[in-house]
Amino acid sequence: MRWWGWGDPAQPPALGPRALSYLREHVGISERPHPPVALARVGLAPSRLDEGQLDRLRAILGPDGVSVEHPIRVLHAAGKGYPDLVRMRAGTPEGAPDAVVFPRSHEQVMALLRACSSASVAVVPFGGGTSVVGGVAPLSGGHSAVVALDTRRMAELLALDTRSRTVTVQGGIRAPALEGKLAGHGLTLGHYPQSFEYVSIGGCAATRSAGQASTGYGAIEKMVLGLRLAAPAEEISLEPLPATAAGPGLRQLLVGSEGTLGVLTEVSLRVRRAPSTGVYEGMFFPSFAEGVEAIRRLAGEHTLLPDVVRLSDERETQLSLMLAEQGPLKGTLTRAYMGLRGVSGGCLAILGFEGSEEEVSWRRTRATELLRRHGGRPAGGSPGHAWLKGRFAGPYLRDDLLGHGVMAETLETAAQWSKLLEVHSAVAGAISRALSRQGTPGIVMCHLSHVYETGASLYYTLLARQREGQEIAQWQAVKQAAGDAIRDSGATITHHHAVGRDHAPWLPGEISGGGVATLRAAKAELDPAGIMNPGKLL
Ligand SMILES: Cc1cc2nc3c(=O)[nH]c(=O)nc-3n(C[C@H](O)[C@H](O)[C@H](O)COP(=O)(O)OP(=O)(O)OC[C@H]3O[C@@H](n4cnc5c(N)ncnc54)[C@H](O)[C@@H]3O)c2cc1C
Repeated sequence: MRWWGWGDPAQPPALGPRALSYLREHVGISERPHPPVALARVGLAPSRLDEGQLDRLRAILGPDGVSVEHPIRVLHAAGKGYPDLVRMRAGTPEGAPDAVVFPRSHEQVMALLRACSSASVAVVPFGGGTSVVGGVAPLSGGHSAVVALDTRRMAELLALDTRSRTVTVQGGIRAPALEGKLAGHGLTLGHYPQSFEYVSIGGCAATRSAGQASTGYGAIEKMVLGLRLAAPAEEISLEPLPATAAGPGLRQLLVGSEGTLGVLTEVSLRVRRAPSTGVYEGMFFPSFAEGVEAIRRLAGEHTLLPDVVRLSDERETQLSLMLAEQGPLKGTLTRAYMGLRGVSGGCLAILGFEGSEEEVSWRRTRATELLRRHGGRPAGGSPGHAWLKGRFAGPYLRDDLLGHGVMAETLETAAQWSKLLEVHSAVAGAISRALSRQGTPGIVMCHLSHVYETGASLYYTLLARQREGQEIAQWQAVKQAAGDAIRDSGATITHHHAVGRDHAPWLPGEISGGGVATLRAAKAELDPAGIMNPGKLL
């Protein structure tokens, strides 16, 4: 993973000349390259942990279980949100953990949390480190030091019950590794966030993550059946039961707890038979409003919903088609688009059906009929293949954009069908106005995805020329405007990116004072010294 950005450092630049000239015209780019500084130039304060304290941690984890090396601390200094990348590229992270620790088991985590609690050292659980909301920011919260607890060595598959279709894993296992192991048994979890290549399953559970196929497979909270939590004062063990009426849903209290209550050391999940067929295709709608209405009607017939549903608004459709004409998607969407020249403007939906051939054919025929009755025009398989091919490419593009002095940020929400169009324009309008006030108008685009019977998620992407030297202030102004617009329109501050540090100011408004007090009470029992991920969620 690039310490200053996303993914494999060997990945070539993704922005071609056509995209650059589009950006030059519509957004404005810097003609001067903006490369990241060299790793050695990233300045970190010396570790505040003395040798005696480090030895106590080594006594629990072994000599190779604790690191204070500069590159390791840098890698754990931030997540992968836009402000994280701006700071990292400049070599000026907000801070860094005083040490990084690598436990291997639940028992080691328990011992470590007890030791940190008595020494007043804060602990930030660190899975894939892909948080985009400041979830892994190394905040000490008034404690004497902070360690990042990297879960990568807790990556075992502990149990697979093929008869019940459940799997139990250690929290640090990465999503691709788990899918690889399940594939050997003809099974899948079906959890594919755009950050799939790097996320840990514990991190996904801790953030209530939603994969791109969540309309069909459900978001992670629908998959988690059992959990093991190691907390400084207690531990919680919940068996992978199919259902239970034994009191309030403790599993759901821990899913989304974002490392503030403890570390999810083990997670049990429902798995499904791997699909034998996948059909991915495009459909055009005359407008975003008409596409939303058609998908709302489809969601009312929930057995017909595709596993992936993604409807781009007019602006996003335009940009996707332009990008498809060059770069990694070359030659796929273009052909479909050329064949559909009759469509003037409009909005592209991607629909993905997975399952057995018979089941996919049944669902797809009926879903297509319904969508056609409500204005959909099938656009064939090319748009679907283009989307599949590029489904994990976005984060690489973001690195290139930053390299050209372009702010590239995403944010998301969810709302009921009755409010969705209102939310769509209120939030897009607030972002556009905030960008204009900064003197950097740019592009704001959105797609609907993660469809439920009662509503859906809206996911915004914004591109604007960076205000040089003012990048963080520019981002803060936009984030504030978007968060306030989301709150004022009665939508959720986050559908799947979680709360972390960046969304925490809006949480009390969403869950009310009593909700915050309940979460604080749980934290006080499990983590009385308040060492777990301070400054996040609450
Ligand atoms: C380019 C990009 C695309 C993304 N796309 C999606 C998407 O499609 N869907 C989506 O849901 N999210 C997406 N995200 C956000 C992010 O990937 C998710 O929040 C993911 O679930 C985080 O997993 P992780 O293992 O990287 O956790 P981390 O980033 O390491 O941690 C996230 C939070 O969980 C805590 N945590 C981590 N592991 C544990 C544990 N074992 N026990 C307790 N707490 C823990 C951390 O302290 C932190 O607060 C995206 C992020 C990026 C950068």
